[in-house]
Amino acid sequence: MPEIRQLSPHVADMIAAGEVVERPASVVKELIENAADAGATVVSLEIRNGGMSYIRVTDNGCGMSPKDARVAFLRHATSKLRDARGLEAIGTLGFRGEALAAIAAVSRIEMLTREPGSPEGTRLVLEAGTVVEEAPAGCPDGTTIIVRDLFYNTPARLKFMKTDRAETGAVTAAALHFALSKPGASLRYIRDGQEEFHTPGDGQTASAVYTLLGRDTAAAMVKVDGSANNVKVTGFVCTPYAARGNRTMQLFFVNGRFVKSRVLQAALEQAYKNQLFTGKFPSCVLYIDLSLAAVDVNVHPAKTEVRFLREKEVFDAVYYSVLGALSNGGETAEVEISPGTKSTIGKPIVSPAPKAAATAPAAKPAATSGYTGRVSIPSGGFKTVKAGETNLFSRGGFARGGAVHDSGAAKYNAAPMPQPRIDSKAVPVERPKIDQTAIPMPKAEPAPVQQELAVPDPDWRIVGEALSTYIIVEKGDSIILIDKHAAHERVIFDRLMANKEPVMSQPLLAPFIITMQAEDSALILDNLELMAQYGFEVDAFGADSIAVRAVPTDVELGDAGSMLEMIAAEIRSNSAKPDSARDAILHTVACKAAIKAGKRSDPMEHKAVAEAVMSGRVRYCPHGRPVSVTMTKYELDRLFKRV
Ligand code: ADP
Ligand code: MG
Repeated sequence: MPEIRQLSPHVADMIAAGEVVERPASVVKELIENAADAGATVVSLEIRNGGMSYIRVTDNGCGMSPKDARVAFLRHATSKLRDARGLEAIGTLGFRGEALAAIAAVSRIEMLTREPGSPEGTRLVLEAGTVVEEAPAGCPDGTTIIVRDLFYNTPARLKFMKTDRAETGAVTAAALHFALSKPGASLRYIRDGQEEFHTPGDGQTASAVYTLLGRDTAAAMVKVDGSANNVKVTGFVCTPYAARGNRTMQLFFVNGRFVKSRVLQAALEQAYKNQLFTGKFPSCVLYIDLSLAAVDVNVHPAKTEVRFLREKEVFDAVYYSVLGALSNGGETAEVEISPGTKSTIGKPIVSPAPKAAATAPAAKPAATSGYTGRVSIPSGGFKTVKAGETNLFSRGGFARGGAVHDSGAAKYNAAPMPQPRIDSKAVPVERPKIDQTAIPMPKAEPAPVQQELAVPDPDWRIVGEALSTYIIVEKGDSIILIDKHAAHERVIFDRLMANKEPVMSQPLLAPFIITMQAEDSALILDNLELMAQYGFEVDAFGADSIAVRAVPTDVELGDAGSMLEMIAAEIRSNSAKPDSARDAILHTVACKAAIKAGKRSDPMEHKAVAEAVMSGRVRYCPHGRPVSVTMTKYELDRLFKRV
């Protein structure tokens, strides 16, 4: 082995530069971050040829003295960090003092800088990290840095650069991330002589989102404003039907820094669970603000990753805030609350996912602990399950839960009336008869909580059904069209999710034999226990077939074969996701058990479906499609040219 020697500082710089400055976009990111750290409110960024030949960043920040201007280009030279303790709470975007040294090592740099109030500024020119010119200069307050011929002295790196278009794309993304992270700074971005965007810098995240992502994207987003565990979560998330085919629009900003984070991504996606089509991902612009000491930003050379001290708390804060926003559906009512008003805030945020809340006991709804700001609650108020409502949906063995049925009984006792369709399987047989005089009221049954929750007569009415598909509802000045299949599917799906008991099944007279691809039949046979839990009795039949012996009570026997195919196909396409088999079964059962579009269904079923939608409990079908569409009188009047 040759003798060990220490590398010259120049070579060491070039190696370090490789980590920080990967491509033009990394230079842009570092320079605009420096501008923000310098307190700039106006920043302009210009690039040519994807940034390979020219990058200019001009800011109106604090500038540098002539001495500092020189020192800034030394390695580990920074004004932002003084000692090791400072590392525990970093409030600036930069802190390592590496960026300028790294960029200078692999390019030709020209810098003009002037501190506000000083008589003149400084001009500095560097080549491959060495100062070649230095002189006083007349220039505006603030700093301009021009980077030319990136990687001119590192041909190995130059070879790896993509096309100008690809590099431009990465620069544009960096500019976008910056502009969203600092809505208080105006950013003008010019690419090859053309202005790409110019943000107002008015401090409003909404206007930054509007300017940068466009009107359509902004319109399909709902506001998030929650806080828990001293973690504040604000910004915007897309509605489920506006989800995208990839994750590039999942933008997270932690204490003003754009970051990639698995924890945040998981919390976001969990909040959309069962609301999205396969292969669709939610998009967001979310700002997560927490104590500087609770997050470590010093874990990645480009500072694009962070580590949270208490991951679970951050996860919960994001999950419940997003869930709350989605259940609001965008119609928000701002309410001022003081700490300790637990129940009112907790309910709407948790209610859309009782299952998730139940399985994560440590999880607290946003704003129940350490609440510090304003939260939005659904404008629909706190309507919850109407007494007896559950029965109306029961088309078989899915509706369980003694309390609700009991309260149903209590209600009928009070007001004898023709029984709505109540499936005998769903109701305990020893239920008291509907005759108040004949039976002395048993004391134990009244279920006072349920009665308290009962809502008054609805302020809407069913006008009818159209095309055997849509239920038409009138409410105030609006007409609401409900997709009866989609809405009912969601209701059944939620019920199945919430239910822990096994589902009733109906045996087939003769087993139904279905031949499937080996891969698919294996998926079914691997999940026999789960299938049984939801009412399917199936087993292997010969080499490549499956025998179906029983199906859930709610579905038609003739659907048995196609259901297994649907289940297998769905498990296969979602195999990477946890619970994919369970979700596949639930989706399929809900779909097959729901009232069908194109077939007439009875008025009781319409009423039950409409109630679920009008109460706000049901907004999207399990695949993420909306279940209702609203048309206002004004919109109709306009169509008829009345207004
Ligand atoms: P860091 O940002 O980690 O401190 P840099 O190498 O990016 O390291 O910058 C070094 C120092 O140069 C900064 O700490 C800051 O004092 C100064 N500096 C860099 N850019 C600017 C700017 N646009 N305006 C004022 N000062 C700047
Ligand atoms: Mg920096």
